[in-house]
Amino acid sequence: MDVRTENRPTGMETHRKRILTGDRPTGRLHVGHYVGSLRSRVALQDKYDSFIEIADIQALTTDFEQPEVVAENVHQVCLDYLAVGLDPEKVTIFVQSAVPEIAELTVFYSLITSVNSLRHNPTIKTEAAERGYTSLSYGFLGYPVSQAADITSVGAHLVPVGDDQLPHIELTRDIVRRFNALYGPVLVEPQALVGECPRLVGLDGGGKMSKSKGNGISLSDAPELVRAKVKSAVTDPQRLHAHDPGHPEVCVVHTYHRYLGEGARGSEALADFERSCRAGAIGCAACKENLTRSLNTLLAPARERRRYYEERPGFVKEVLAAGITRVRGEAALTVSRVKSALRLVQF
Ligand code: SF4
Repeated sequence: MDVRTENRPTGMETHRKRILTGDRPTGRLHVGHYVGSLRSRVALQDKYDSFIEIADIQALTTDFEQPEVVAENVHQVCLDYLAVGLDPEKVTIFVQSAVPEIAELTVFYSLITSVNSLRHNPTIKTEAAERGYTSLSYGFLGYPVSQAADITSVGAHLVPVGDDQLPHIELTRDIVRRFNALYGPVLVEPQALVGECPRLVGLDGGGKMSKSKGNGISLSDAPELVRAKVKSAVTDPQRLHAHDPGHPEVCVVHTYHRYLGEGARGSEALADFERSCRAGAIGCAACKENLTRSLNTLLAPARERRRYYEERPGFVKEVLAAGITRVRGEAALTVSRVKSALRLVQF
């Protein structure tokens, strides 16, 4: 049977389609992660068999000089997942480095991946430019191949992504098609599940929100810290007095209102708020206070859940151990099939 046409993992019966997503554990997750992916993952957990990877090896492709940061944040990212409402009864959370089969698959896929396809990958080029890399490590250049191994190890059918990640999914699909054409129908060809994945700009307005730039609001920030951070956010530079007409389209606070504040209450509420700004009817201080209230209301249940799990570190370890066991079982089947297809001796 041709699994490409059946679109299901070889030898694995599943009633629900599988999806795979994940994050690099370079810091605690922030509200940018929430609007970009976490809230859709929570919505998808009832519909799909969801695998969520804490990609620690991938984090080391950029943060190799600070392995202690990556190690500490594996646990923190898992806490953030549980805090936002991902339910370990419904999703499988695992750590990339604890599944050596993924590293094996990465080696096999590297055999049929050209260096040029990686060099010309637009996401790699953009990320390298943003980080100021003049020379790329083998691991950084090859991380999309490792992503292909992540995705195919569990036979994921769908990969939720934003537009910027599409080249990586295309590369995975190329690898799968090439492998299946050369050696037989072994791997499931995944599709991108493109949803609305807004990228929040950082508080300083100088690019996307990121832990390394220190310009984000973490999901675990205390209410007063959220208030202080929102106060520091860049607004419309042309607006010098509270009654000056504002330009929400250039204001960081407006972006947050759109996805986390007024916009979350509906398009009319957002339009009203924008009108007030343009008319100079609301001052920036009051606008920021409104946003702080919205954010703290949104984050309150996540803080409470986080506290609950922080007091139960044994439970978090169990969640990860169970996820790793499940993924290793699936990935071992995939490796075995891949090795058979490659006529490699298995002992
Ligand atoms: S009122 Fe709000 S949206 Fe308008 S410029 Fe000030 S902070 Fe930005």
